[in-house]
Amino acid sequence: MNTVREYLENFLYVTESGIHGAGLFTSIKITEGQKIIIIKGETISGDECERREEFGNVYIFWNGENYIDTAMTDKIKFINHNCSYNCDIFDRDEESLFLIADRDIEPDEELTIDYGYDEIYELCQCEICSEYAADSFEIQKAI
Ligand SMILES: [Zn+2]
Repeated sequence: MNTVREYLENFLYVTESGIHGAGLFTSIKITEGQKIIIIKGETISGDECERREEFGNVYIFWNGENYIDTAMTDKIKFINHNCSYNCDIFDRDEESLFLIADRDIEPDEELTIDYGYDEIYELCQCEICSEYAADSFEIQKAI
C-alpha cells in the first residue's frame, strides 16, 4: 500500500527557517485545499504525551482521539508555527491527520500552521503577536 508517498511528501524539504531553527518548505506550488501530507507517527496516551513533553518533545499532535508523536519523522516534525499560517490540520483517522493548504502556497515558501496552544503566542514574533504584546504592555502601564 502506498500511503505516505501519495500526496506531496516528496516535494517537501527541510532547511533553515526565518521563523525558528529548521522549517518545512515546498519545492512546488500548492493550491488552496490541496492535501499535502498525511501526518503519522507513534500513537501514544495522554499520560505518555505529558511525560514526553516534560522531556522537551514538541512534536506531538492531537487528532481528537489520540496523541501522535512525530519526533521520529523526517519532515512534518519541522513545521513551524505562524499566526499567518498557510496550512491547516484536519482529522483523517484514529492514528493520523491531514495537512491541507489553507491558501495557495508558492514554490520555496515555508509551510506553517497555528499550533493553537497559549504558550506559543508568547514566543511568537510575528507582527500580530508583537502588536498584541505592545498593547498589553500599554494596558499594564495605564493600570
Ligand atoms: Zn504570532
